[in-house]
Formats: sequence, C-alpha cells, structure tokens
Amino acid sequence: MTAAQRTAGLLEGWFPSAARPLPWRTNTHDPGQVRDAWGTLVAEVMLQQTQVSRVVPAWLAFMARFPTPGALARAQEEEALAAWSGLGYYRRARLLHAAALRIVAEHHGLTPTDPRALRALPGVGRYTAGAVASIAAGAPAAIVDGNVLRVLARLHARPGAAGWAPLVRWAWAQSERLVAAASRPGVCNEAIMELGATVCTPAAPACVRCPLAGQCRARALGAPERFPAPKARAARTDLHALALVLRDASGRVLCQRRAPGGLWGGLWQAATLESAAPIDDAGAHAWARMRGAGAGVRPLGGFVWLTTHRRVRFRVWGGAGVCCLRRRAAQSAASPAAPPTRWVSPAELAQLPMGSAQRRVFELAGVGAADPRPAAAQPRGPLP
Ligand code: SF4
Repeated sequence: MTAAQRTAGLLEGWFPSAARPLPWRTNTHDPGQVRDAWGTLVAEVMLQQTQVSRVVPAWLAFMARFPTPGALARAQEEEALAAWSGLGYYRRARLLHAAALRIVAEHHGLTPTDPRALRALPGVGRYTAGAVASIAAGAPAAIVDGNVLRVLARLHARPGAAGWAPLVRWAWAQSERLVAAASRPGVCNEAIMELGATVCTPAAPACVRCPLAGQCRARALGAPERFPAPKARAARTDLHALALVLRDASGRVLCQRRAPGGLWGGLWQAATLESAAPIDDAGAHAWARMRGAGAGVRPLGGFVWLTTHRRVRFRVWGGAGVCCLRRRAAQSAASPAAPPTRWVSPAELAQLPMGSAQRRVFELAGVGAADPRPAAAQPRGPLP
C-alpha cells in the first residue's frame, strides 16, 4: 500500500463520523449516492469567501429561491445580487448568474460534472471545479484551498509560506496523488477540507483527534502550527467615504447604484463621495449642499469597514430639506452617464441589493437595520 493510499483510506474512514451536518451534504454515509451538482456548486461558491455559519442560512434561502440553474437564469442579475445580501463579495453572485445562463444555454440546464466543462463556466476555477466534480460525481479531481494546503504541508512538514507559488504547485501535485489513490475521491476531498476546517486549524491543531496523527511529520517535529509559514499580507489602503442619507417629505430615502465592477460594484448605496484623502467638514458640507441637501444637513456618525484590500472610513451625513433632489434624481435617471438614482421607501430599501457596509450607513441614519455580522470576518478562500 502506498503512502497516498494509506492517507486516503484514513480520511475516507474518518469522514462519515466527523462530518458536520451541513445542509448541502446529503447521503454523506452512502457512497453509492451522489450529491446534487447545482447545490454543490452554489455551496462551494458561497464558501470561497464566507464563513460556514453565514453560508448555511444563505444557502438554504438561495436554493429555495433558485433550486436549479434554470431558475437562476430566468431571474434578473439584480435578483441574484439581492439573494446574496450579507454574504459579501457580490462579484460571485454576478458570476454565478452568468454561469446559470451558460448552463442553460450549453448544458440543457444540467450542471456539468466534468472538471473541464465546469472550469469553462464563469467564476469557476480549478478548486471549485475539482470540488464539484469529485463531490457530485466522484471524479478523481484534485482540490487545493487554504485548509487543504495546510493539512498537506503539515503532513509532509513542507516548508514555505501559505501563498508561495512553489508550495501551492506542490500541494496540487499532492492532491492529485491523493485522489488518484482514493477509492471515493469526493469523500476523500471533503474529508481533507473538513479536517483542515475543524481539526488541523491554523493556530491550535487538535492532533489527538486527527486520523492522520500517526503519519504526520509536522506533529513528529513537535510544532505543527509552524507549517505553513504565515502568508505575507498586503497592507490595506485607506479609503474615505462620505455617505449622504437624504429623505423626502414622505420618508423615502435617496439611493444610488454603484458602477458595475470594482468595490461593491452594481450594489445600491446612499449618495457617496469617495476619496483617498480625508474629507473635512467644510468639504463635506459643500458636497452635501451640491447634492441638494438643505441647511440642516449634519454629521450623524461614522465607522470603519475592512475589506480584503481596503480600510474604508465611512462618515455618514444626513438631514431633511431635499426639495431639489427630486429634480436631480430625475435628471440622473435620464442621463446614461450618471449613476442610476432612486427614491425608495424603507421597505423597498430592505429589498435592494446592498452590501452590509451600506446597510450600516442607513442604520446610522435611523433607516432600516444593520447587518449584525462582523465587519472584518476573514473566511477561507481559494488559493490562486
Ligand atoms: S496530526 Fe495535527 S498537524 Fe498533523 S495533520 Fe493532524 S491535526 Fe494537522
């Protein structure tokens, strides 16, 4: 028996009793059954950038609304963005919508399970294709994400930092070896992901509960958490955002749609001025008046929002006295160059596709409810 066969066998034997009961996992204990490929694809896309605890309710709601690729393809992109609300990284929702359109056009509405066909879908990379192909169809397709790389690096005491290209290449080769040796590649893949998420964690691996403890070189060296070395994180750049929350006499608020692409692309927000440099009170006041705010406009508060690459320092201004904004909104709607602008009731506001930071802006102004989730949660994500 090769080392890869032994490792695969240990992982496959461990997984049925250790797997968390997640809703996209069905028939976990029955190797003769396969998983729904569409549900698996949706779960894997959501899990790329978001923590499991947040994905579970979002996945259930998304699948209830879009149980098939056809259901998502029939919806407008904006509906997909609204259903993604609170998950962050909305580009994934746009790409999943595009993938659904492609599945309907090229695969008769059936999610492919061939790794090459999967990779041809918008937004599906090598990791996601391998996960869906192996889990939903039992294909011997390799996977490497942060969890898998960590387990493999420790198992072999392989030096190098987490994002280092040679280490990532080595991990892909190891994963290919592992699934080729596995009798159930999908179970083997899910098991190593689960092991990295629940046992072989970054700071405090629970080696006493690990099925691979007997063959783990990092554990034998006495300091498994040293593998892999921490990834050098690029410094976040500061962005200053002045958000203006304006209401009309009937209590509606003014919303503006961001340009597609880039940070929070295509999502709705309060009228917002962004700048690399801080915006002082005089500048904020002048801009708010230019946007049509009345003399009573004033600062309401602020907060810092962290994204992967930015530290966004929000200042929220608001107030009444917006008589001329109705005209501006109408002008904006008529101009293709201007961002789409819309007056909405608080109930409509709750339905607009909007990031959690933008919801917090409105909450600070006393409109709508903030997303209770933390601003800077750093979930797992695929490696390049
Ligand atoms: S023995 Fe410890 S370090 Fe090695 S794979 Fe298992 S949990 Fe990770």
